[in-house]
Amino acid sequence: MDLRSDAVVLFGATGDLAAKKIYPALYELTRRGRLDLPVIGVARSPWDDEQLVTAARKSALETHGRVDDEVFDRLAGNLTMVSGDYADPDTYRRLAERLAGAERPLFYLAIPPAVFGAVVDGLAASGLAARGRVVVEKPFGRDLPSSHELNGSLRAAFAPERIFRIDHYLGKEAVEGLRVFRFANRLFEPLWNAEHIANVQVTLAEGFGTEGRAGFYDRMGATRDVLQNHMLQVVALLAMEPPAEAGDDAFREEEVRVLRRVVPLSPESTVRGQYAGYRHEPGVAPDSNTETFVATRLRVDSPRWDGVPFYLRTGKLMPGTATEVVVEFKAPRQNLVPTADGTPTPPNLLRFRLGRGDGITLSIQAKDPGAEVASRPVELPVDFGAALGPRREAYERLLDDALDGRHLRFAREEAIEQEWRIVEPVLDLAEPVLSYAKGSWGPAEADTLAGGGWHAPT
Ligand code: NDP
Repeated sequence: MDLRSDAVVLFGATGDLAAKKIYPALYELTRRGRLDLPVIGVARSPWDDEQLVTAARKSALETHGRVDDEVFDRLAGNLTMVSGDYADPDTYRRLAERLAGAERPLFYLAIPPAVFGAVVDGLAASGLAARGRVVVEKPFGRDLPSSHELNGSLRAAFAPERIFRIDHYLGKEAVEGLRVFRFANRLFEPLWNAEHIANVQVTLAEGFGTEGRAGFYDRMGATRDVLQNHMLQVVALLAMEPPAEAGDDAFREEEVRVLRRVVPLSPESTVRGQYAGYRHEPGVAPDSNTETFVATRLRVDSPRWDGVPFYLRTGKLMPGTATEVVVEFKAPRQNLVPTADGTPTPPNLLRFRLGRGDGITLSIQAKDPGAEVASRPVELPVDFGAALGPRREAYERLLDDALDGRHLRFAREEAIEQEWRIVEPVLDLAEPVLSYAKGSWGPAEADTLAGGGWHAPT
């Protein structure tokens, strides 16, 4: 089934993800001429078509700043609503009626994981699953066994090639840029190993808190929310071997292969934190031991990375919002040039900014002006947006791919299971989380985890 899907069914049409990401993506795809097909919203809330259109317009406006009426009217003309309980067969009967003219619908499950099972069963029992594709959102389970279980229920209803698991980091152009950087350039690849790299740091910092979703977050924590998925995907891109051949399949296979080489995280090398005041937020257990911050040292058991630590940290209410990778190179073999201030020569750093305003900054030592021959660090920054033009939004690309049945930018089942294997030893630890002040880089104990210290995002 390689033909493009001919309808979109959005379960969770009243939800946060739909509002923040999916309506803006549908609008943008319509604008580009990539979407002119029925879009059916499904929810328990008794919304009518007009409420759906109003919600979609509001989202598109908030995200894009302006809405082109001609474009939006085209989208609005395709939007209809089906309301009902997910456990009620009648909901699927009415949905099937609405889909009578669609041969290949795409079912997008933008719903809480607790209701995935009911919807998948409903789609299977009504016969709708047999002719459709399904998009599921992270989290893919809570651990390895529940991830297996989820995969089992998805596979019982949908053929494997019709299942699309979103880890939206894989849809970010900035993250995809790591593949290009590594394999379309010769310059750094010879240095990309334990001989020349001292450590790799990945920081995913959020300057905001739980944004009214504390109840949901409290059942997740930072490890399940972003470390298990987004951060380990970034590690895979950084650490993988070059694929033996060109092409997406070989690339994705290599990504999975390196995840198999990642040693499970250890509680001793992991610091879990919780920001002060978190336990007072609505929906959070008063004795919650959920981490809103986690920092860890990860090891890739391969000759290329022998002895090179990967330091990972993520947290809420950090000093700012940034996703950055810093590759710290080893010092020059001989110290032939003193530094201007007499301190040891700082390492060359290669920074990948993967969030907004993505780009790369390379720090090198340059000649300090003056009579002496001495070095001083300077930065060579590139802003990819300024150099190359604007990026496309991840959800827009992912929806477009799913409609076409293209798998490259979706998470592989084995990759997800490897990721659960890696984080398993640090899930649900009984040891109390350490408190940290809002606006700080987490508990002080995390500072010393990275031997030479963390490089703050720029
Ligand atoms: P919401 O909590 O906003 O829920 C989505 C919709 O599901 C709600 O509007 C509600 O609609 C319905 N719903 C809520 N609880 C239940 C329930 N117990 N039984 C049946 N229906 C329920 O979720 P999000 O939109 O935030 O997330 C959707 C999915 O996307 C989740 O799997 C989440 O993990 C994932 N995700 C979300 C992100 C985000 O930024 N929001 C980011 C990445 C992934 P109604 O009552 O009208 O049916």
